[in-house]
Amino acid sequence: MSIETVGVVGAGQMGNGIAHVLALAGYEVRLNDISQDSLDAAISRISKNMDRQVSREQITAQEMDDAMRRISTTLSLPDLGPSDLVIEAASENESLKKQIFDTLLPHLSPDTILTSNTSSISITRLASGTDRPERFMGFHFMNPVPLMKLVELIRGIATDEPTYQSCLAVVEKLGKTAASAEDYPAFIVNRILIPMINEACYALYEGVGSVSSIDASMKLGANHPMGPLELGDFIGLDTCLAIMNVLHDGLADTKYRPCPLLVKYVEAGWVGRKAGRGFYDYRGEAPVPTR
Ligand code: NAD
Repeated sequence: MSIETVGVVGAGQMGNGIAHVLALAGYEVRLNDISQDSLDAAISRISKNMDRQVSREQITAQEMDDAMRRISTTLSLPDLGPSDLVIEAASENESLKKQIFDTLLPHLSPDTILTSNTSSISITRLASGTDRPERFMGFHFMNPVPLMKLVELIRGIATDEPTYQSCLAVVEKLGKTAASAEDYPAFIVNRILIPMINEACYALYEGVGSVSSIDASMKLGANHPMGPLELGDFIGLDTCLAIMNVLHDGLADTKYRPCPLLVKYVEAGWVGRKAGRGFYDYRGEAPVPTR
């Protein structure tokens, strides 16, 4: 099926990045949110990020203008009805996502492919609540969307091959690479990445190393661009903990138990960069380790 118009639900961190890359690739994008402030912030963020691409000569000013014109915003979910593909990127809450699909479904053509950018909710379970489990799949972008090259495409148990192929064609048109993942907790990237961050928390908790020595070890000893604790702060320690809980609950294996120190940081509200404090304190000029 050829895809020309894409509806994006949720204009937050991920939704605005998704709208950005789709519009640059030539898709007509309808961006929906429940908050006008989020829609306005998304348009201004997309415009700023594209401006930066123009100044770095990655795109031309004309390409930016054309892309910005392809994005329209709406507070009304039914306006996404005429989309060929819908990518849901609203807050990570299963009942909220189900409610969005219930509202949207009566307005969609039977051919529309419905996808979710969820990081941790079962695609099969989300699909089973819709009228089109065979045309439902996980379309999981990485953050920040314009920079990260990977998209995980996750098949639910009922996802059919034409749906997968149509989504794969979109990923390729975006100039990104798809990794095909089965629908098991946290898929591939987070299944491997978040336990590594959790293990770094254990190394800190058990006194194997300080924040600085753990991050320096992985940067200089394993050639990672960021240390695991720095990366945890960037992702958000609340998000890391939520994903560890999904792995622990979904796979019932004690190797996924969340580190008590990670839990403590989240309980303190020290959830990383967005809170001004996590494994580092970001409130001064330069980040300072908190342990
Ligand atoms: P966010 O909090 O930045 O944005 C969520 C947006 O959804 C907000 O603007 C909110 O107003 C909107 N929203 C809430 N209820 C809505 C509704 N009923 N209808 C329409 N919009 C609604 O969150 P985010 O980080 O962009 O995450 C969005 C999704 O992407 C989640 O499912 C998350 O798991 C997934 N994801 C996040 C990351 C990440 O690193 N942040 C990476 C990959 C996937």
